[in-house]
Amino acid sequence: LLRIEHLKKTFGDHTILKDISMEVKKGEVIVIIGPSGCGKSTFLRCLNHLETIDGGAVYFKDECISGKNISRAVICQHIGMVFQSYDLFNHLTVIDNITLAAIQVQHRKKAEVEQAARRLLARVGLADKETAYPRQLSGGQKQRIAMIRALILNPEVMLFDEVTASLDPEMVREVLDVIIGLTRQGMTMLIVTHEMSFARAVADRIFFFDDGQIIEENVPERFFDKPGTERAGQFLNSFK
Ligand code: ATP
Ligand code: MG
Repeated sequence: LLRIEHLKKTFGDHTILKDISMEVKKGEVIVIIGPSGCGKSTFLRCLNHLETIDGGAVYFKDECISGKNISRAVICQHIGMVFQSYDLFNHLTVIDNITLAAIQVQHRKKAEVEQAARRLLARVGLADKETAYPRQLSGGQKQRIAMIRALILNPEVMLFDEVTASLDPEMVREVLDVIIGLTRQGMTMLIVTHEMSFARAVADRIFFFDDGQIIEENVPERFFDKPGTERAGQFLNSFK
């Protein structure tokens, strides 16, 4: 579904991503882990045009989507992304936050989109928050709204960048449960996380990044029990 070939990214004279290649099949759950500053966020941001790239290419269904002529609005309909900071519009209600892009960018009918929004809200246990404003919500609730806002566009791939990193521990579970629900529906996902037990539970494959490169690719059982590289072993030990 997604193919990344020799992706390179530099900021000034710093090479942040050196030569990243990866193929993601439909329905696969990829978890990316690695030390702070190794380029995980930059990698996800390159996939959906939040950053320009300096080499290589990204293919979605065999079509190159990394060209400068491809608009971000088009990419966002295929590839949804959720960040550590939820970036909801504070002056809009929950339902307006969720439906805005579907109505304005995808030109869907308001009634249909609102119905879909209500279904998704109910599914994540937030049916009663439709008319609330973001400031009236907890971090975990805001993050679930941010997820719905991406999902309502019917993306075929979801990117998650440390979506639980700024949450209190009690709220982490409710957000991870939404992702687990998506795995059951067969959603294709690339997930950056520091939640190791979650990574082990959901990943089909783990990619360990360090210093802008893929150091190790492995199935979760092997990666966590007997990593194939010394660097990954050291990294995992720091979590023990
Ligand atoms: P973390 O786990 O802390 O989120 P990360 O793996 O996501 O780290 P990135 O945010 O991708 O790391 O950053 C990789 C490197 O790129 C860092 O050294 C960072 O300072 C640099 N970097 C990121 N964005 C920019 C930018 N807009 N301009 C210049 N340098 C940047
Ligand atoms: Mg990051």
